[in-house]
Amino acid sequence: MEDKIATHVRDIPRSGIRDFFEVVQTMRDVISLGIGEPDFTTPWHIREAALFSLEKGRTGYTSNLGLPRLRESIAAYVARNFHITYDAPTEVLVSVGVSEALDVALRALLNPGDEVLYHEPCYVSYSPSAILAHGVPVAVPVHEKDHFQLRAEDLEKRITPRSKVLLLNFPTNPTGATMPREALEQIADVCRRHDLIVLSDEIYAELTYDGADHVSIATLPGMRERTVFFHGVSKAWAMTGFRIGYACAPRVLIEAMMKIHQYAILCAPTTSQDAAIEALDHGEAAMRHMRDEYGLRRNYITAALNAMGLPCPLPRGAFYVFPDIRSTGLSSREFSLRLLQEKKVAVVPGPAFGACGEGFVRCSYATGLDQIKIAMQRMKEFVEEMR
Ligand code: PMP
Repeated sequence: MEDKIATHVRDIPRSGIRDFFEVVQTMRDVISLGIGEPDFTTPWHIREAALFSLEKGRTGYTSNLGLPRLRESIAAYVARNFHITYDAPTEVLVSVGVSEALDVALRALLNPGDEVLYHEPCYVSYSPSAILAHGVPVAVPVHEKDHFQLRAEDLEKRITPRSKVLLLNFPTNPTGATMPREALEQIADVCRRHDLIVLSDEIYAELTYDGADHVSIATLPGMRERTVFFHGVSKAWAMTGFRIGYACAPRVLIEAMMKIHQYAILCAPTTSQDAAIEALDHGEAAMRHMRDEYGLRRNYITAALNAMGLPCPLPRGAFYVFPDIRSTGLSSREFSLRLLQEKKVAVVPGPAFGACGEGFVRCSYATGLDQIKIAMQRMKEFVEEMR
């Protein structure tokens, strides 16, 4: 049967995270700093909106693009918080998570062989999604010394006549990196000069700390018309299981994406769309409360890792920290496996996010502070034993 599977699908490796967490699941009493989803339950008023939706019998399909009322909420939210205006009826598509929107955008844009640039280490789906859309993934490594920010000259070096799309994700999974406006302006300049379309995954935008302003590349001169802005409710509103994301872009792009979405998915779940309206219209206070809690955990975990000699810059966003473990003499995989077996703490080996993640591990702080404190104590003992 193996020979029946399409070659480009067969050749994609399984996610490194999944392999690792299959081991975790067989063990007891593990503290997991491995997960990439909030430990909070969706705020009650949002769950209640989902219940009301069911109670009212709203159990049918919605329009392919999503409920008009939700698209209005999205356009208003994006205008209010990101300072970009989109026309709700024609420039907003509601998707099954950012995951689906990214897939649909790549499939709408790429001809076979077109190149997709992205900064690495990055979210595990970028390279496989490019391949599944018959594109060619081109990783641009980023470095700890640059706080894992993308440098315009590194990007420009990898541009070829086939380069078509640049995938950006700030704040970044797995490094927590953010991009200040000036650095983003240099990237925008490269995109304009080389006529790149930008897919900007801003799913962690609300989770930025220290009062830093999140800047979307779509707001920079000449960028709105060449950018697809992706966002969703999974992270900042703790709604991963609702599966609601969205893409905002010029009409022609949304129209092309809609064709794929309509045939493959039809529409995002109605109950979840109703819940997302509540999250975007009234979810500000609950979101801030969760963000402040992540902020406290971030301070604690970053200080603890640096104190045990695993250097990491203070991440400015998301809920991940990416310490350098090279001083232990172990590879990322050995470090993660032995930490799990010997101390029952799960972290993700850096190469799961791309080859240049070797020498690092990802620790998520979407876990309660009490658990994080125990995990840091165990990790400290482990690191001392390794030296
Ligand atoms: N983008 C990034 C950078 C992510 O980390 C994740 C989830 N881990 C996603 C997209 C997927 O989000 P969604 O639940 O909206 O599909």
